[in-house]
Amino acid sequence: MAAQDDAAPQDAVQKGWCHCGAVRFEIYGPIRDFRRCDCSIYRRKGAIMCAADKDQFKLVSGEEALGLYQWNTKTARHYFCRTCGIYTHHWRRSRPEFGYNIGCIEGVDIRALPDVEIFNGQAMTLVGEDE
Ligand SMILES: [Zn+2]
Repeated sequence: MAAQDDAAPQDAVQKGWCHCGAVRFEIYGPIRDFRRCDCSIYRRKGAIMCAADKDQFKLVSGEEALGLYQWNTKTARHYFCRTCGIYTHHWRRSRPEFGYNIGCIEGVDIRALPDVEIFNGQAMTLVGEDE
């Protein structure tokens, strides 16, 4: 078993929510692909993200509370709670899957997480002169 698995709860369903609790989601399946990213948005967020297939991510409540931020190619969809401001999840451009904020997941000990890869998001092509 990889070290990163030891840091995460082992239940089949992971429950996550934003800081105020308006946005709640569940992850079905293993917590996988821990990463940070150096692209222009995630270097500012600083969140550690994990990945979930499209059918492994379920928004349980709070759709009306979600803000959506898109930029440049507008392929990725970056969601956040409009009340507390916390980034909860996003739909990726680099791969057809969700990313989500591991800090939102119940029971995760962020001190026990392994060294986290920093994805080379800066190398992704952009449109126009945007950062
Ligand atoms: Zn919130």
